[in-house]
Amino acid sequence: MTDCLFCKIVAGEIPADVVLDREGVLAFRDINPQAPVHVLVIPKEHIQDATTIRPTHGGVLTEMIAAAGEIASAGDVDQSGYRLVFNVGPDAGQTVLHLHMHLLGGRPMAWPPG
Ligand code: 5GP
Ligand code: ZN
Repeated sequence: MTDCLFCKIVAGEIPADVVLDREGVLAFRDINPQAPVHVLVIPKEHIQDATTIRPTHGGVLTEMIAAAGEIASAGDVDQSGYRLVFNVGPDAGQTVLHLHMHLLGGRPMAWPPG
């Protein structure tokens, strides 16, 4: 997708603070962090959001979750805990239409979420 912000980050056209770069997945720090550790994990392939996930995306989703585990360990939040979030649609506050999983950690988090 030529006009997608996160595709441009994958292509290296927009800089990002990359924390993990794997075959199908890229992870980088959120530009507006909501927790001491706030990393976005995305598929390199353009997938719009969770509603457009199909069974063929199983491999990349597994890679995303595995990446999150590695990032949590590297960021020292694997023991304290962390949250993995997919925002879908306006009520959830989704602003970027390229699938991304938020990894948030480093502070206690409320439940239910705001
Ligand atoms: P959403 O609200 O769609 O779930 O999450 C999009 C996230 O992308 C937001 O947390 C926002 O701060 C982050 N973001 C938006 N533009 C950029 C950018 O250019 N670089 C980085 N690293 N993060 C961005
Ligand atoms: Zn994209």
